[in-house]
Amino acid sequence: RASVHRITSGQVVIDLQTAVKELVENSLDAGATNIEVRFKDHGVKSIEVIDNGSGISKENYEGLALKHHTSKLSNFEDLTIVRSFGFRGEALSSLCALSESVVFTTATASEAPMGTVLELERSGKLKSSDAKVARQRGTTVTVTGLFAPLPVRRKEFERNAKREFLKALNLLQAYALVPCVQENQGVRLTVFNQVSGWKTSALQTDGSRSLKSSVSSLWGPKQVENLVPLDLRCIVRTDKASLKRQGILEEQTTEVRVTGLISKFSPGNGRASADRQFFYVNGRPCSLTKIQKAFNEVYRSFNTNQSPFVIADFQLPTASCDINVSPDKRTIFIHSEGNLILALKVIHLLIVRRVSD
Ligand code: ADP
Ligand code: MG
Repeated sequence: RASVHRITSGQVVIDLQTAVKELVENSLDAGATNIEVRFKDHGVKSIEVIDNGSGISKENYEGLALKHHTSKLSNFEDLTIVRSFGFRGEALSSLCALSESVVFTTATASEAPMGTVLELERSGKLKSSDAKVARQRGTTVTVTGLFAPLPVRRKEFERNAKREFLKALNLLQAYALVPCVQENQGVRLTVFNQVSGWKTSALQTDGSRSLKSSVSSLWGPKQVENLVPLDLRCIVRTDKASLKRQGILEEQTTEVRVTGLISKFSPGNGRASADRQFFYVNGRPCSLTKIQKAFNEVYRSFNTNQSPFVIADFQLPTASCDINVSPDKRTIFIHSEGNLILALKVIHLLIVRRVSD
């Protein structure tokens, strides 16, 4: 039996990166095929996410940003089999509490081309839903003055805006690849940053379902030349410590499939690309620091400072991992991580050897 960690409560939104992530996740959950993210002054002024998803239906207006209000999960048992990104109804309530204002405009298929403006209070309560605007099916969220209610936090954000923006962009790159990783319908993602009136494009994908083609639109065709497909299956033992924690006595094994792309090792590739390493568990972007380290160590064992470009999705039974460890869901606990790392190191070594020979 899988153990579900107690849901950690606490702020979901801790920085610009997580704020944007939550909004884009909501758009993906709404089935959007076109998502546009607009930063103003690197997000310091505002962040806007525009999608062509399902829109929000009237019965969800009142509770929209109330804590633990979600339209995505019907009971607690579902937590072990969640497929949608959101399921706890915490993001919007966090965003309202932490921003100057949060405004939605939304229209469902039956309402379009007439949309409704939803203004929210800091408490997450619906302030008004009276105004109407022209709008195609989908939802626009505008978050203004992130962290304004926390002056110290706000100052820090303003001071580090550019760095925060780059971090957010890196996470958006991870999400831009999600539809390909999940082998879902293609999603066009466009990101703009507007600084003192000047709009610049920061990221764009073509909505292709091919991972290589998306890599090409994100980093240019040259990046693709060097990549080989990753497709491994291994059966790994569940880590002893993890079994013990769950009170399980007998040994267990899990079948893990790893798919994606990895760069060939070649002496000419000088660039270390630690910012071009993307890990997913069942199609959900996450940070797998130990596994990342393992990939890098194999490269280092070739006596260079190179890190591989890697996109790796770990497909494993939902009972073999736990996404409820941290509020932002970026940390995923894999019950067989230790053994998985050992397996990966060996396999990776073989791959790197083979492709560089
Ligand atoms: P969660 O995603 O965990 O359900 P959120 O606080 O992120 O919680 O969102 C609350 C609810 O608001 C969602 O369950 C969904 O019904 C609605 N919602 C938010 N953003 C969108 C969107 N872009 N399109 C459609 N519905 C949305
Ligand atoms: Mg959400």
